[in-house]
Amino acid sequence: MTFDDLQLHDTLLRAVKAEGYTTPTPIQQKAIPHALAGRDVLGVAQTGTGKTAAFALPILQRLSAKAPAGGARPVRCLVLTPTRELAGQVGDSFGTYGKGLPLRHAVIFGGVGQNPQVQTLRNGVDVLVATPGRLLDLMEQGFVSLRSLEVFVLDEADRMLDMGFIHDVRRVIKALPPKRQTLFFSATLPPDIVDLARSILTDPIRVEVTPASSTAETVSQQVYFVEREQKRGLLTHLLKEGNIHRALVFTRTKHGANRVAKQLEGAGVSSAAIHGNKSQNARERALDEFRSGTLRVLVATDIAARGIDIDGLSYVVNYDLPNVPEQYVHRIGRTGRAGASGTAVSFCDAEERAYLRDIERTIRRNVPVVEDHPYRSGQPAPRPVSHASGAAPEARPSGNGGRPQGTPRPAGNGGGGGHSAGASRRRRGGRGGAGGGGRGQGRPEGGRSAQGSGGSGGNASRGGQGGSRGSGGGRPAVAQAPAKAPEASPLPPRRPSPKWF
Ligand code: AMP
Repeated sequence: MTFDDLQLHDTLLRAVKAEGYTTPTPIQQKAIPHALAGRDVLGVAQTGTGKTAAFALPILQRLSAKAPAGGARPVRCLVLTPTRELAGQVGDSFGTYGKGLPLRHAVIFGGVGQNPQVQTLRNGVDVLVATPGRLLDLMEQGFVSLRSLEVFVLDEADRMLDMGFIHDVRRVIKALPPKRQTLFFSATLPPDIVDLARSILTDPIRVEVTPASSTAETVSQQVYFVEREQKRGLLTHLLKEGNIHRALVFTRTKHGANRVAKQLEGAGVSSAAIHGNKSQNARERALDEFRSGTLRVLVATDIAARGIDIDGLSYVVNYDLPNVPEQYVHRIGRTGRAGASGTAVSFCDAEERAYLRDIERTIRRNVPVVEDHPYRSGQPAPRPVSHASGAAPEARPSGNGGRPQGTPRPAGNGGGGGHSAGASRRRRGGRGGAGGGGRGQGRPEGGRSAQGSGGSGGNASRGGQGGSRGSGGGRPAVAQAPAKAPEASPLPPRRPSPKWF
């Protein structure tokens, strides 16, 4: 299928061609015809799949088909996004794809003065891209009316929920006219999201691409077993030796992001941190510098990096492994976008091995281990996870220049050392005695792990990293003096995968 087959206007076809797009991505192929026909859409797709164009192109076509009669210019399309960065990027996409169309778009978000936004709104806007908080503020002050709305897009609905915006979202929805087209996008469909979708969609068509539990085939994944205090040395080593020109590095906390950026600067690697405590200007400056190549490394927390789209980003480093498996999928989706190849490197310390197991179960593959590096952990490598689905361990070459390739692990070595109990051992919430500050790093940004429902002591499940694993099992291990296992884990509790619908 080509874009020409999608019944899009010449102006839009020219715009996508000018962007270098030749073939619509699967979500575009599936969603665009229905959205053009005016249907409600439930799109299950993560960032990096081309979902923005999947909704922006049909919206631009439908709105431009009947341009507003002169005079007042009411908001006819609202796109709600969870973060400022994503709002900016979606706004840019409307600008890019809508070039040459008689439509105006604007982006509004908090953290900056509202006056310029108010002025833009006064001048009339067809497509408004907004984060929920600032939108509600401006609605309450009478600067935004959604009475004439024709299309509503809820983008990254699951992230909205994670970030605690669900009440704001519901308040916005209440202000929308009931007769409208709704396009609902989410990377995952946990029950709360399904409820929300049911309540706002009318006879939707469901389109789905690569569920968030699968990682793009174009991303080569590697894990380095390394002790926590050695991560810094390993990162500098990889940046110096590993032929990495530019990398997005993820940390779990804001404090961690600052520290890593500072350490890298100290080692002569240009870098900056972005997270929720940074001003909008500082975040944008860092992003621009990273995009332009002035900065070699951008260190980010999950929330700050959400929706960031950097063309040609070929390296993602998980300096800390996320305790929510889907977060791993989102992170590594920053690279290998739109068919390009990328490499996702994860550092896994002794305490994070349980997270790795959860991730491997979620993505249903084992992440190849890089053993030949100077900072390798003294602890034997854990046994590989056995995947009930029979999915073969990933054995693709790393495609990574002079770096060692991952070692494929033998499959079927006794059921994965009792992993079957894993799911039941997981605990929701329950920060337990460790609290959020055990490492002196503060809480993970966004408070996901702070939202626990009480639970029962959080980290019991981490016991899997010791005991029965002593022999090293089926995963070739580098035998050195075993490091002492941590007694009380200060890490946030592991979070279970959402249920799939
Ligand atoms: P998104 O999932 O909307 O964040 O898009 C991810 C990236 O894919 C962006 O850099 C888009 O510019 C790019 N993209 C979107 N559609 C296509 C396409 N059909 N062909 C090539 N790149 C695309």
